[in-house]
Amino acid sequence: MGVTGSVERSLLSSLTSLTSFGMTWAGFAKGPTLLALLLASTAALPAQAQTDEHRWRAARERLVTDRLIPQGISDSATLAAMRAVPRHEFVPPDQRPYAYHDTPLPIGHDQTISQPVVVALMTQLVRPRPGMRVLEVGTGSGYQAAVLAETGARVWTIEIFRALAEEARGRLARLGYRGITVRHGDGYAGWPEEAPFDAIVVTAGADSIPPALIEQLAPGGRLVMPVGDPRFDQELVLVEKDAGGRVASRRILPVRFVPLLRGVR
Ligand code: SAH
Repeated sequence: MGVTGSVERSLLSSLTSLTSFGMTWAGFAKGPTLLALLLASTAALPAQAQTDEHRWRAARERLVTDRLIPQGISDSATLAAMRAVPRHEFVPPDQRPYAYHDTPLPIGHDQTISQPVVVALMTQLVRPRPGMRVLEVGTGSGYQAAVLAETGARVWTIEIFRALAEEARGRLARLGYRGITVRHGDGYAGWPEEAPFDAIVVTAGADSIPPALIEQLAPGGRLVMPVGDPRFDQELVLVEKDAGGRVASRRILPVRFVPLLRGVR
């Protein structure tokens, strides 16, 4: 309910804040003389970068306190990861002003980076911890993989579009994420060479859960995936495998994801 329904409102608020962002800069440029601006332009760069970093961090903090906690994200490892991962580094430059709004954003190839509250919820549901082995299907920008890795888990992630896989691999390396391995391929078959996994996160929707993924879940492991007709809303489903290998699943809430595709692109 909350998750998809909130998208429109968030878009509205992002438009409002974009306007005020523009006004701030216009106001700033009016005051100083051209000479002062020219003199400041080179010397001020590192300071400006620092200010930007501050602004991004403050925006991330607001996202956590105003959106994630009120919507039920309470796991401390998940909240710490959401406070740490720079989502603005995972979106195209023209989407950066919206990076800390609680909305999905386009990342090319008709794909999207998921809404932050959904990333946080999926992370919280699988409870990643240091040393855990986590598989993600649907690397996209690499953001969800970074959030999982930030908790200290070791992450293997598969992306079906070569260009997205390569971009994410480069981005994650540049940002210093060492515990993530990105593979270009069809995640429907999982990653048998690295199985079993303590947690599996599927970030694209399908009618049913690929059997290989359930097989590759370790005893005591948890899998989360959007299940349902990809043309409509899906249901976020949590699958738990007990110590004896028995599997139980339950629906968490309605969500809307891009479809799980077949065949490598
Ligand atoms: N987790 C991503 C967003 C996921 S969007 C992030 O944090 O940015 C879903 C992604 O799954 C898309 O990038 C899409 O190309 C990919 N995908 C779809 N079907 C797939 C499949 N069968 N195997 C691997 N990746 C797939």
